Amino acid sequence: MSECVFCKIIKKEVPSDIVFENERVIVFKDINPKAKVHLLVVPKEHITSIKEIKEENKTLIAELIFVAKKIAEEQNLTGYKLIFNVGREGGQLVDHIHLHLVSGDLREMP
Ligand code: 5GP
Ligand code: ZN
Repeated sequence: MSECVFCKIIKKEVPSDIVFENERVIVFKDINPKAKVHLLVVPKEHITSIKEIKEENKTLIAELIFVAKKIAEEQNLTGYKLIFNVGREGGQLVDHIHLHLVSGDLREMP
């Protein structure tokens, strides 16, 4: 878990461009944006992927979507995509749950 880059971002051991943070969720800019707006909405709890979520995580996962919606509103995004990549074959490279919020000038699917 200590090797996880997103945990290091959460602990501020690795710098990132943070756009929102509360006790449970952090949102920062993707280091390699695939669109004009490309944010990562990340739970502070280390959970590897959607495959690993449990009944008790339901509220947290819903909060990721709600936070994404609030940020989209704040940034006046009229349309956007919310994407969970799940597992290697699902395109997931970082093994800490994250919701991609992408909008505008989509270059490729993240
Ligand atoms: P995945 O492919 O796992 O769904 O997406 C991981 C995303 O995390 C990628 O879009 C990648 O650019 C981004 N990413 C990987 N390492 C870092 C990092 O150290 N900082 C930031 N801000 N984004 C990262
Ligand atoms: Zn982690």
